[in-house]
Amino acid sequence: MTGTTQDDYTDRYARRVRGMTTSEIRALFAVTSRPEVVSLAGGSPFIAALPLDAVGEMMGKLASEMGTTSLQYGIGQGTIELRERICEVMALSGIDASTGASPDDVVVTVGGQQALDLVARLFLDPGDVVLAEGPTYVGALGVFQAAQAQVRHVAMDADGLIPAALEAAIAQSGGRAKFLYTIPTFQNPTGVTLTEERREQILDICERHGLLVVEDDPYGTLSFEGEAPRPLRARKRTGILYLSTFSKTFAPGLRVGWILAPHAVREKLVMASEANILCPSAFAQGAVTQYLATMPWREQIKIYRQVYAERRDALLDALRDMMPTGTTWTHPNGGLFVWATLPPGLDSKAMLPRAVAARVAYVPGTGFYADGNGTGNIRLNFSFPPPDRIREGVRRLSGVMEQELAM
Ligand code: PMP
Repeated sequence: MTGTTQDDYTDRYARRVRGMTTSEIRALFAVTSRPEVVSLAGGSPFIAALPLDAVGEMMGKLASEMGTTSLQYGIGQGTIELRERICEVMALSGIDASTGASPDDVVVTVGGQQALDLVARLFLDPGDVVLAEGPTYVGALGVFQAAQAQVRHVAMDADGLIPAALEAAIAQSGGRAKFLYTIPTFQNPTGVTLTEERREQILDICERHGLLVVEDDPYGTLSFEGEAPRPLRARKRTGILYLSTFSKTFAPGLRVGWILAPHAVREKLVMASEANILCPSAFAQGAVTQYLATMPWREQIKIYRQVYAERRDALLDALRDMMPTGTTWTHPNGGLFVWATLPPGLDSKAMLPRAVAARVAYVPGTGFYADGNGTGNIRLNFSFPPPDRIREGVRRLSGVMEQELAM
């Protein structure tokens, strides 16, 4: 069926895009970027912690001295130089040659987001089921929904995904579950980390049921107290696609991420990516490669960790000092986010306009669920605002909550 006038597109859209709506986070960006608003809503890294002059100099050389490659087309899989460097980065987390990781099985992507999109293109037919933590990353929900898959949430607690709940969800899916999508370490949006013991249990369950695992790990190296538990991919080499990105450890503006795929899958991933983007940006890949080759990137990760640990503490202290009774929240050991549960009766989405009027922003919990849950939750970011702004934001937020509770 076509629209009534040529300029009416409603009925012309493909079925898969009809349900698309503006992400709650994107809709918020317009207001939260106003300087008077304390935004606890974003997920931006604190780029000012980078040695920007040195990065700028490196970028200049990339154009002037290496322009014939950095400004040219490249191959779909990504440059071998970068894929080798990516293997060095993964080795930090215990994913190395001894676990079967090889540059040959790395596919460079346009951020972690394209990695998710490629996984969906490869594995999801309309009506397929994806199992995912409840709550989970809003951008992954968008990708799975665009692929017309159904997301079924698996319950989690302070120790991460609950193994018995995963068993139950697999049984309920009646064989239609294509994969488990999981963010085991410093999860977005909760900040929660799956325990060592549960990692083994989850892998065991997936293995027994022949369920593929899509492990999304943008935050694993950003730990505040010791090292995080090793990724699932460091424990098992088959049946897992491992996704990560330089967005949180270097710079999201470059849009460089990657997938480490089982060897049997890698070729199809490259074909899907070529159909999608031809090849990742040669310039951005060159920038990341040069950064990893010539700059102290391990030290930079430590700097990010220190800055974020201080801000996490500022947020947790402020919540403890100021939140109304009945509010609870997670205590992340890394990453960028805290997930709070509001006192009974408060609706995070309904409260948001009043919070913005009080010059503080957060992300309502409903965005992180495919099933309408999360009305009593909010996600708070601590990576971007400095500690004094975080404290001021929590002061404003608690004022709004006290007013709501008094209504
Ligand atoms: N996965 C998760 C869990 C994320 O939190 C994000 C970014 N917020 C992404 C993927 C996307 O990463 P990128 O910005 O590199 O596309």
